[in-house]
Amino acid sequence: MSKINLYNETKFIMKKYNIEANKKLGQNFLINENVVDKIVDSAEISKDDLVIEIGPGLGTLTSKILEKAGKVICIELDNRMINILKDRFSLYNNIEIIHEDVLKVDIKDLIKKEKEKNNIKYAKIVANLPYYITTPIIMKLLEDELDIESITIMIQKEVAQRICANPGSNLSGAITYGIHYYTIPYSIMEVDKSSFIPEPEVQSEVIRLDILKNKNLQVKDADFMFKIIKAAFMQRRKTLINALINGNIIDNKEKLENILEKLDIDKNIRGEKLTLEQFAQLSDKLCN
Ligand code: SAM
Repeated sequence: MSKINLYNETKFIMKKYNIEANKKLGQNFLINENVVDKIVDSAEISKDDLVIEIGPGLGTLTSKILEKAGKVICIELDNRMINILKDRFSLYNNIEIIHEDVLKVDIKDLIKKEKEKNNIKYAKIVANLPYYITTPIIMKLLEDELDIESITIMIQKEVAQRICANPGSNLSGAITYGIHYYTIPYSIMEVDKSSFIPEPEVQSEVIRLDILKNKNLQVKDADFMFKIIKAAFMQRRKTLINALINGNIIDNKEKLENILEKLDIDKNIRGEKLTLEQFAQLSDKLCN
């Protein structure tokens, strides 16, 4: 189907169900067939897979995923979309539609149950994410340490660049470190605003995160390390020492200076310049 056909189909469904996109829910519907195909191909879906789709909307990606996956679980917050999805996919027996805020769903439990009862070997996440909660969704998926292989998502280009940046480089942010701790990130393709209706205000990018089953980095307390990283980036223009004192991570400046000296890190360094390994070393020393 060409770009114009997917545009027509989307318009047709919206008219049939009297749907206006809800900006507050980040509703920008994909109308570019090439992008849909690229997302689904990049996710490398097979009949052995359970695919969890976040925010299926009108079901554009869903219909392609359904052709390839063993089972599809869609999680959608907007009641209007639930009705459309139920109508549209009523003849499929390998789809489950959950009407809920994805941040409230116990995805770990969903995967466990599916693996127990179905012929499912692997679980994968695929989504054109609502941009207003991109970071909380990604961090939830990672911090819950789900039993999944990969996350293939469309997000804002700016966030994608942060995610795929090397920790310690100019583009990195607190999220960069979380991503590199849990995954190997890949940029798949940039996507122009014209691939959606309505057009979003920002450019987009598809990325894939391959989950590290054995982490490259060992750290005594990962939660504490991420607290340090968040504090460092809350005040990224300040020195690491000042940011950690202001962020109530430590109150003894001298102790922190001694630790940095032992780790061979300049005491005037800004947190944004540290590598993930250096944050891990610092975190382990502060835990002692
Ligand atoms: N997958 C569709 C597509 O590609 O055309 C729609 C993608 S649209 C960018 C994001 C979707 O996420 C919308 O359908 C929206 O209603 C849904 N959504 C927004 N917030 C959500 C939340 N907290 N939990 C689940 N779905 C949500």
